[in-house]
Formats: sequence, structure tokens, C-alpha cells
Amino acid sequence: MEPWVREGLLQEKLPGGKARCLTCARRCLLAEGEKGFCKTRENRGGKIFTLTYGLLSAVSANPMEKKPFYHLYPGDFALTCGTWSCNFTCPWCQNWEISKRPPDPDQGFGYVPPEDFVRMAKEEGCQGVSLSFNEPTLLLEWAVELFPLAKKAGLHTTFVTNGYMTEEALEVLVAAGLDGANVDWKGGPAAVQKFCGANFQVVVKNSRILKDHGVHVEITTLIIPGVNDDEGTLRFLAERIVEELGSATPWHVTRYFPAHQFRTPPTPISVLERAKEIGEEAGLHFVYVGNVPGHPGQNTYCPSCKALLIERDGLSLLSPHIQANVCPRCQEGLPIHLRPGKRNPLP
Ligand code: SF4
Ligand code: SF4
Repeated sequence: MEPWVREGLLQEKLPGGKARCLTCARRCLLAEGEKGFCKTRENRGGKIFTLTYGLLSAVSANPMEKKPFYHLYPGDFALTCGTWSCNFTCPWCQNWEISKRPPDPDQGFGYVPPEDFVRMAKEEGCQGVSLSFNEPTLLLEWAVELFPLAKKAGLHTTFVTNGYMTEEALEVLVAAGLDGANVDWKGGPAAVQKFCGANFQVVVKNSRILKDHGVHVEITTLIIPGVNDDEGTLRFLAERIVEELGSATPWHVTRYFPAHQFRTPPTPISVLERAKEIGEEAGLHFVYVGNVPGHPGQNTYCPSCKALLIERDGLSLLSPHIQANVCPRCQEGLPIHLRPGKRNPLP
């Protein structure tokens, strides 16, 4: 059997050669020979196999700011990878070249065992590993082997996710050492159902479970005209973040550009600025404007005295003004993880 085909970690074997995949909340019931909704899981002989164990579409060393993580090890780099396909159907997908294709061992980066990925991360001078690009839950079996090795090598571990894994999958990821998750809240319940074919409540609940387990959580919403840019939706999302995850949770409101099946023009910057205002009115202390290089809404300010703490431009840290997670001006505590032993954030 190919090395990227492995027995699925989470499944329920059923009579008649059927099996249920318990990797994500779709919980696909698969008969012999059938593939799941995501095309990365297949029933072979009554058991579900993943077709994407370590099968990587792309690998690159990226700053934490690109994911985006603004409050988790600012200035660090993580060796980042994704696999193929997705369990969501977003028609605006910015990574559609990999997320709308079934696993393909002849394309992309190819098969990488977890220990090799950790070695590559160290060789590239990265301080972490990150699973992103498409939906990292589809790399579950590989991630739970990768993370303990990464932690042993002193690397941090993150997911950039649509948050649609099962609670069982969340448990194994947390136990394996997941440090941080940026979870996409793509819109209100109706839009998430219509465009992503998914249940918004699952995403909210999973975000809360991650936080309750001590995983660092940031939320991203790609603001798309006509999908989620109305005041009611933005206010609803901001209020739910406050209610479920707390005021200190970073919310990234990022600019959409046309991609895949969506041709609507890019989000006006004024809409992103209004989204930031709405987030702050709802009580969020850190709302960031994303995908707008040079915008001051990328910077971190002290929620108490408004001192400028971290200046960013696109993916770069310009002028870090903190060396500890307290405001140097008013001593307000800051919910920003700084890497021990490093004067963070460094440009
Ligand atoms: S990962 Fe999700 S979409 Fe894919 S087969 Fe399993 S339950 Fe279905
Ligand atoms: S969840 Fe992410 S990767 Fe998957 S289709 Fe949506 S935007 Fe693309």
C-alpha cells in the first residue's frame, strides 16, 4: 500500500462492510469502495482509510502573521503545509487549486513522513509547524504523529482551520500538542449553510472547546460583499466571539479578492473599517484589518491606554514596542504569547 494511505484513526465499523468516518462533523457513512464528501477518505474492505497521510500539496516557511496569528509568537516562522481537497464547498476559495482537487500523489510536494517535516522545519530555521492552505483536519492522522515530534524538537504547532472537526478529532489534536488554531467564521448560519454546506453552530462550539482546552484561538472572517458584509451579520459574529471566546480574542476581518467561482469585486476598504468598528462596539479589544498592506488596522494597540504596541505592514513586523506581555506604558496585561528566551517580537 502507498505510504500516504493509512487506516483512519477515527471511525466506526458497521455491519455489512460499512463504516462511518468520525474525522469531521459530516460523519460520512461509507459503503465498500465509497469515498467521503471530502474525497480523502475511502472504505476499503469495511475499513476507512485516509488517502492523504503526509501527502502534501505545498510547503513553505511563513511568518505567523501570514496565517494570520497576531497574538501567538509574533515574528516567528512556521513551516506550513496543506494537503488536497476540502470538507467545505466555499465558492470563493482563495486556495481552490488545491482545495477543489482530490488527492494527487503526482502533483504538489508529495509524501513527507512527520519526522522529515520536523527536520525540514529546523533546517529552514522555523520556530513552528503549521497546517493550513486547505482544511488541515484532513491531515489528522499525520498531524497527531507530527505534533509530538515537533514539540520534542522545540517547535510550536498550529492549525488554520474551518473548525469542522468532530469532538473526537479535537481531543486527539489537543492531546497531541496543538498550541494554536485560527478558526474561520465564514458568516452567519444561513450563509455558512448555503455556501459552505456546513453548520455554523459546530464551528462556534469547536472554537469554544479549543479555547477551553487551553489552545490559543484567533478568529478570521473573510469579508465578502453580499455574503457576510452587512451590519447585522458583522454584529452577530462579533457578539458571538465575545460571548463564546471572550473580549481578548483577536478577530481578523480580511479583504476578499475574486477567486474560483466568485467574481464580485474586492471588498471596499471602508467595509473592513466598519467591520472593525462594529467588532470594537461589541466589546472586542483586538480587531484587525487584513489583506490591506499599510493599513493602521493591522497594528496592535493597548486596549487600555491605546499605546502602539506592535506595528505591522502586511506580513512584516515594523516596530515591535513590547518585550513582555504587559503594556510598557500603563502595565495592562496583554494576551499575547511571547516565546520564552526570545526578545519578542523581533523584526
Ligand atoms: S473527513 Fe469528513 S467529509 Fe471526509 S470522509 Fe470523513 S466525515 Fe466525510
Ligand atoms: S474551508 Fe477553506 S480551503 Fe476549504 S473550500 Fe473553504 S476557503 Fe477553501
